[in-house]
Amino acid sequence: MKINAVNLNVKEYMLPGNRLCPGCGLSLAYRHILKALDGQAIVTVPASCLTVLHGMYPVTSVAVP
Ligand code: SF4
Repeated sequence: MKINAVNLNVKEYMLPGNRLCPGCGLSLAYRHILKALDGQAIVTVPASCLTVLHGMYPVTSVAVP
């Protein structure tokens, strides 16, 4: 099935709260990418704002390994 904004998975892989700048488009884009992948992803994170989004171990704002 073709995935689009209307039939995205309802499950959330971005958990409430992260450390990105308020209004940053990265969290919205990342949220939709994880939904489109239905959580079937292992994430490796380069040093960037994505590192900030994931948070400091052992807490995280993302529900994928
Ligand atoms: S990309 Fe990084 S610096 Fe830019 S708005 Fe988002 S969190 Fe802030």
